[in-house]
Amino acid sequence: MKKIFVLLLAIVSVYACNSQKKNEATKVTVESIDTTTVRKHLYTLASDEMEGRGTGTPGIEKAAQYIEREYKRIGLTTYANLKGYRQNFTFTNRRTKKEIKAFNVIGVLEGKSKKDEYVVVSAHYDHLGIRKKEGEKDSIYNGADDDASGTTAVLALAEYFKRKGNNERTILFVAFTAEEMGLVGSTHFGKDVDASKFVAGINIEMIGKQSSFGPKTAWLTGFERSNFGKIIQKNLEGSGYKLFPDPFKKFNLFFRSDNASLARLGIPSHTFSTGPIDVDVHYHKVSDEPETLNVSNITETIRAIAIGTESIISGKDTPTRVQLTEKEMGGRKKK
Ligand SMILES: [Zn+2]
Repeated sequence: MKKIFVLLLAIVSVYACNSQKKNEATKVTVESIDTTTVRKHLYTLASDEMEGRGTGTPGIEKAAQYIEREYKRIGLTTYANLKGYRQNFTFTNRRTKKEIKAFNVIGVLEGKSKKDEYVVVSAHYDHLGIRKKEGEKDSIYNGADDDASGTTAVLALAEYFKRKGNNERTILFVAFTAEEMGLVGSTHFGKDVDASKFVAGINIEMIGKQSSFGPKTAWLTGFERSNFGKIIQKNLEGSGYKLFPDPFKKFNLFFRSDNASLARLGIPSHTFSTGPIDVDVHYHKVSDEPETLNVSNITETIRAIAIGTESIISGKDTPTRVQLTEKEMGGRKKK
């Protein structure tokens, strides 16, 4: 009798242990996106060692290698028929007429059930590189806010969604190159895609400083162009974090970041930002260093993007498509 009891106890405890493990897997919360991880990504990508991540320079090679190592550690797979995480291509620099070797860095988290429905989570990992100016001591444009902060978000969200393991749709995590040279990387990425498979674009730019709407707020470019922003707002209800429409209409920001390359294909693709760009003294300056940023602001914003986009990732919500005028298409006609 005693033996049977011990055996039963053993079975019950094994069962309890297993179900507890299961619970832990589903219990991954946004709290797992922490300041330690954020600080590590940010300070690595914006370090002087990366030499301002100018496209075509040794510095951006180092940044790409860091992103690749992280994708591998997290357990992301490769995109389409690529052999690694890099999408290699060359382009001609408009200014110098020189041929430049460039690469987007793409990692994939395959959807559980809607494998052919893609959500893009992106940021540009390039910046302005090194520019020597007479009389200036510092010549490295670290691009900490622009856009090491967004790239940090891409890496943190990749790890979060991988651990969470409930993405019904396929998520493509893309670090775009040569954004600063005219959205070159994202334009290349958009060239051969079947846009009808792309459900949404979540682009992240400059989230290192508190937005002008106050703490725990961000704004979204092209808010009125689809119902993407409304979906995010609904999901953020009760979270203490608020999303606003882009307050800088005069800057035409919807067309000035990589989201535009996908929006031109009709994909509801928007940029999240907290940048107070009207008063930002470090914008496109050598002084855009990680020490000028608020790591908590970045962490809270990444968590808010995770909560806000959850229903799109899970396949519950599908944002409406974006329609641009011919002028907004940049004179390009649809085939
Ligand atoms: Zn930028």
